[in-house]
Amino acid sequence: MAKARVGLYETKGDALVRTHKSCPKCGPGTFLAEHEGRRSCGRCGYSESTTPPAAKGKGAKSA
Ligand SMILES: [Zn+2]
Repeated sequence: MAKARVGLYETKGDALVRTHKSCPKCGPGTFLAEHEGRRSCGRCGYSESTTPPAAKGKGAKSA
C-alpha cells in the first residue's frame, strides 16, 4: 500500500518545511514514524530513542 502520507510537510508561504525527521540510513525522502519516546523507520527498521537520557531515572537507582 503505497499511500502518500499526509502531514509530512508543512507549507509556510512558499517554503516547504519538513515536520518529520528523515531516516539516516534510507536518506532524505524516507521519514521516521513518530512514536512516544522513539522514532522508527518502517522501511529499514531503524529506530532511535527520542527520550533524553537525563529523563530516565533521575538520580534514582533502578534495581
Ligand atoms: Zn530507514
